[in-house]
Amino acid sequence: MSQLRTIRLEITDKCALACLHCSVNAGPGKSRMMPLALALDLIDQFARLGGQEVILTGGEPLEHDGYVEMLERAKTRGMRTCLFSMGIVTNGKLFDGTAVRRLKGLLDLWVVSLHAGSAPAHDDLTGGRGSFDETCAAIQRAAVAGIEVQATFFAYPGNAHQLRAVAGLCDHLGITSLRVLSVVPQGRAANQLGLELAIDVIDQAIEEAARSARVKLRLGEATKAKYRRESDCQAISSELVVNCDGWISPCHSVEPTASTSELDNAFLVPLAEVLRSSPRLSRCRSLAKEEAGIGCTSGCLARQALLGVPSGHVFPR
Ligand code: SF4
Repeated sequence: MSQLRTIRLEITDKCALACLHCSVNAGPGKSRMMPLALALDLIDQFARLGGQEVILTGGEPLEHDGYVEMLERAKTRGMRTCLFSMGIVTNGKLFDGTAVRRLKGLLDLWVVSLHAGSAPAHDDLTGGRGSFDETCAAIQRAAVAGIEVQATFFAYPGNAHQLRAVAGLCDHLGITSLRVLSVVPQGRAANQLGLELAIDVIDQAIEEAARSARVKLRLGEATKAKYRRESDCQAISSELVVNCDGWISPCHSVEPTASTSELDNAFLVPLAEVLRSSPRLSRCRSLAKEEAGIGCTSGCLARQALLGVPSGHVFPR
């Protein structure tokens, strides 16, 4: 696992929003938090193993009282930092201009999800009235503070037609990159049928949006691998996901869950040993070996190995 590049820490499942497609089923009623001391220790171990990037995600990572310390630790250890956040926190907390300015120098990239080009449609999907306005205001504050912001767009049958407006919004807000992703059938999306969109519909939406927008539009790596089996994504070897309780997954397309082996838990066993001996990672690696030549070493392969989706499963085209 010498190429392991990125660690993605799901530091809480709490979130002011309750997005339809949320792959971790986060929401206002949740309260799990990754213990700060364990998170900092994990960042230290990862740095010693040659890790290059720490991504903080959730839920909403801003809900964690220790997110700034985690970013500071990653920076102190010389790693790149990234935050997946909607810029919205629940009552009693602030993500105002002062809080954003505090991130200057600590945060290399902020990734935000935009679901539509205007408030009603975006807010319908997040379940939070006013969330569109709040997220846009947070992005503007980040721009003033000089923080780079990129956006993601989850394409599914209800909103694919919104991509063009979202691309225009990105131009307006100074966002230079917009990744289009398909919904992963897990978390809140697991029980909702029909959220996966055919790839030609996604391609068409991207083509139309690209005609009038400056923002760089592209398919997300796991989405590309899932539909086309062509991708630069090396999730099984280059990325590790750890949830608030320490359970690991090789890819963000597969939510970490409790396992019967403590070797799948980065809080119970040193990270180097998890990487060497985790049964979960071993299953993915052996399927990756079997499938070598097909070209898929990404999350869809991890889904096959860990969730029993049969090898060769055909996704909608
Ligand atoms: S998708 Fe993100 S913003 Fe939406 S509920 Fe889940 S964690 Fe919160």
